[in-house]
Order: sequence, then structure tokens, then C-alpha cells
Amino acid sequence: MQHAGKVAVSDSLTVPFVDYSAFYKTDANTYRQVLDEVCSRGDFILRSDLEQLERNIAAIQDCRYGAGVGNATDGLMLALKAAGIGTGDEVLFCSHTFVATAGAIVAAGATPIPVDIDDNALLSIESAQEFLTPATRAIVPTHLNGRVCDMRGILDFAQKHELIVIEDAAQAIGAKYYGQGAGSFGQASMVSFFPAKVLGCFGDGGIVLTNDETIYETVRMLRDHGRSRNGDIVCWGYNSRLDNIQAAVLNTKLDKLSDAIDRRREIASIYSQQLSDLDELGLPPSPVATGPYYDVFQNYELRAQQRDKLRDFLWKQGIGTHIQWGGKAVHQFEKLGFSQHLPAVEKFFEQCLLLPMHPYLADDDVLLVCDMIRKYYRT
Ligand SMILES: *Cc1c(COP(=O)(O)O)cnc(C)c1O
Repeated sequence: MQHAGKVAVSDSLTVPFVDYSAFYKTDANTYRQVLDEVCSRGDFILRSDLEQLERNIAAIQDCRYGAGVGNATDGLMLALKAAGIGTGDEVLFCSHTFVATAGAIVAAGATPIPVDIDDNALLSIESAQEFLTPATRAIVPTHLNGRVCDMRGILDFAQKHELIVIEDAAQAIGAKYYGQGAGSFGQASMVSFFPAKVLGCFGDGGIVLTNDETIYETVRMLRDHGRSRNGDIVCWGYNSRLDNIQAAVLNTKLDKLSDAIDRRREIASIYSQQLSDLDELGLPPSPVATGPYYDVFQNYELRAQQRDKLRDFLWKQGIGTHIQWGGKAVHQFEKLGFSQHLPAVEKFFEQCLLLPMHPYLADDDVLLVCDMIRKYYRT
């Protein structure tokens, strides 16, 4: 995910890890009509399709307001700034995330402080506790792979230490925790529409979600050169608007969002059924109909013994897999200058592997992946 250039996209593979052109081709005629209709209206920037999308996404995620932005990284930076985070502030984040989470904190002028993972491979509150200082002002939990963090625990922790909570829900559209939408728990959140995300557009795109009217109005100004609703410039701003045409494409895709999520959950169930007896693997929790977590499986990330050898073996069988972010947690990129040691997430990155996961996979493809994994460990 997110490494379009490095991901194993190969026509020669039987089961490629990701098939970007399928995202377009499956409904190409619809998209051509949308392009023609919207462009014929001349509706390019901050137009009605965007407003409609903002209402739609906010409703899906149980939030009052949505503000479309150029990408989710900008969205997180703008949400942090709108919440008053900036120079001198320390912001806790989980190191099992894309570097964008930390990059946005830096772009907001604050200092990112990486913390370790819990048993769910998501932000560990215990670890966050260890890294608290008098300068800690906010916490950014990432709902990675489409599973919501332990938000009850995180909200308690944040309240106790007077921290602002901004959720990285980039991968979590449709995900729920105790029936409530990802991104609706803290002061604000953002979702990404990067093409390979659960709801992807045809380029970059994102949205900031919030229940806080002031944060919403501030993000709207910041994304549009600091312009207020009456056109007056009231602060320094940015240019980070979600293109109206991307919003129109996304509105069209929303009709199929719940089917796409159902399919991801079905695929995850097959992986669970077929692989759960292999002691060499650590699987993510299977999708269940009841209980606190409703996962959308942006990714299917497991832990595997002899991970690199397994990956090579699968490649030779024509199956593409992916090691998220080159096999490093954010704090492990040396040039970024972190000095923390986070044993659980470092261990995790020695073993983690993403299996193919997208709505256009056939059952036979998924079963083939499982057969080959079984073959690797059983011979
Ligand atoms: C994709 C992603 C982002 C960044 O989203 P963009 O829209 O590409 O800027 C941030 N955090 C996580 C966890 C992501 O997966």
C-alpha cells in the first residue's frame, strides 16, 4: 500500500498483490459519463459534488462535518493546526503506521513521538504513558489496516492527561468500534482516498472529519489560502482542496462501498479458515458479526515465521505479497533522527506480510494463496 512504484504489480503473476487498472476498468463507462457530465458543467474547484461527498462521508463515519482536502497527509496536518497544535508541542503516534502520520505532525510544526504497539498491533496505551512529557499535547492513533484502535482506553488516557485526539483514519472508512464510525471519537480525523484505499479515487484525495464546528471552519479556511466564507483572507493558508471531479467519482463509488467492504471481509474469512491451524503464522482477528470491532480489512497483515523465504516462495508460485513500508516502523528510518527503541513493533516488522486483499480477487485466487502457504510450511 502506498508504494505504488515498489509494489509487486506484475502481469506475469497469477495473483498480483494489487491490480490498479481493475479499479477503473470494472466500471469504466460509468466513470466516463461522470467525467463528461461534471466537466461539461465546468465544475472543477469547490463545487457541489464536493459538498455532496463531504456530507456523504461525514454521515458514513458518524461525524457532523467533512472538509475535502488534497490528500490525507495534508488533512492530518490541517486538523492538527486547526486544533491548535504547533511549535513546541509533542504529539504521540504509533510507529506501526505510514510515515505520513509523523510527516503531518512535523508539517504542523510539532514533534512526533513514536510509541509501541499492543496485541492488536495498534497503538499501545502503556507505551504512550511511558513517553508522556509536560510538552505532550496530542495523540494520533492510526486505525491501521482498517481496524479501529482501543478508543475507549485512548479517550480515557487523553482525558486524564488533557491531550487532543486526532485519529488517523486514512485506512478506516467503514470501520466501526462499538458500532461507531472510525474517526468520530477524537476532536478530528482524516480519511484517505489514495487509489488503493478501501474507497479510492483516481489520484490523491482525502477528507478531514470532525464534530467540532470551529475545527471544521478552520480547516476549510486553511485548505483554501486562508479564505473565509465571505472571501476575506483571515490567515495564512494552503492550497489543499479535493478536486470536484475526484469527489464526483467518489460519490459514484459510494454505491458499491458496502459491497466492497463485505468482499474484503469475506476474503479475510477465507484466509482465517484456511490458515488458522498453521502455528508458523500469527493472523489478524477474523471478521466477526458481533463484538466491538467491525474491521474493513484495508490490508490483510499477518505475522509469518521465515517471512522473507515464504515471500520468495510465493513469488515463484506467481503470488504477489507486500512488506509494508519496506519492513520498517516509522522510528526505524535512520535519517528521520528518532532515538526511541520500541521492541514490540520492531519485532513485528521482522515478521509482517501483507497478502493480496482487494474486492476484485476471486475465491480461487484466495484459495490458491492459502494452498501455497500451506505447501511452504508443510514440505
Ligand atoms: C495512506 C495513508 C496516509 C496518507 O494518505 P494520503 O492520502 O496518501 O496522504 C496516512 N496514514 C495512513 C495510515 C495511510 O495508510
